[in-house]
Amino acid sequence: MDNPFFDLSGKTAVVTGANTGIGQGIAVALAGAGANIALVARRQPDETAAMIEKRGGKSVIITADLSTIEPCERIISEAQAAWGSVDILVNNAGIIRRNDALDFTEDDWDSVMDTNLKNLFFLSQAAARVMAANGGGKIINIASMLTFQGGIRVASYTASKSGVGGLTKLMANEWAAKGINVNAIAPGYIATNNTAALQADEKRNAEILGRIPAGRWGDPSDLGGAAVFLSSDAANYVHGHILAVDGGWLAR
Ligand code: NAP
Repeated sequence: MDNPFFDLSGKTAVVTGANTGIGQGIAVALAGAGANIALVARRQPDETAAMIEKRGGKSVIITADLSTIEPCERIISEAQAAWGSVDILVNNAGIIRRNDALDFTEDDWDSVMDTNLKNLFFLSQAAARVMAANGGGKIINIASMLTFQGGIRVASYTASKSGVGGLTKLMANEWAAKGINVNAIAPGYIATNNTAALQADEKRNAEILGRIPAGRWGDPSDLGGAAVFLSSDAANYVHGHILAVDGGWLAR
């Protein structure tokens, strides 16, 4: 049966970091709901494009290095040129650096903050200018458990993802009246490149699994439903929310 609430046909979604992991899972899910996708990545996201095509969806590739804000306006204008509009932005690209707080370097601070937070804000700004002119849109930021918790050995990551939570609310407050919904998804522990070191560490892996009520690591496809919901008309009155998709981690 059709469910028009979650139908993204005719919409355009820009997904950053779409070549792998959570970005790939979300891009495939949005395409499955009918959206045309602009896959933003610094490495060719051919695998994601093939997954979308196999399911009958459409995508274009926009190559960009998101360690600086230099490509932000180009990304939005290339997506617009390809599909005619930008209705949805998923700020997914992100990095992590692990070191003791006593030894944490300025480079590990700046590189994470620039990609995870500064870029997220200025890409959102570029998208929101287009969305505001078009009567609205959806922005989804990928937050983290460390939007709520302190974590350990990941000072700049915690700072950046805590900042993502704050900026999600700020942007929601400023842009809600323009028809733009800004929300975030906070993934729990998802099996991707980002968490490869944790998965490989037997002790940490056991500690993490022991705390997840669902009893397993998440898969990138587990984020798809939340992303489709927040991109759809079903979320038209949802603003500034951070939706945990975490197998119950925060409930413990
Ligand atoms: P991932 O597989 O490492 O994906 C990260 C993506 O960001 C990759 O596509 C990566 O591209 C891209 N990226 C990083 N720096 C970039 C840059 N300078 N320019 C362009 N693209 C860049 O890890 P993931 O787990 O899917 O991470 C996706 C998001 O989820 C991140 O924001 C992460 O913080 C967040 N998150 C993950 C988890 C988890 O448990 N996995 C939990 C909470 C939040 P390359 O492949 O070229 O590096």
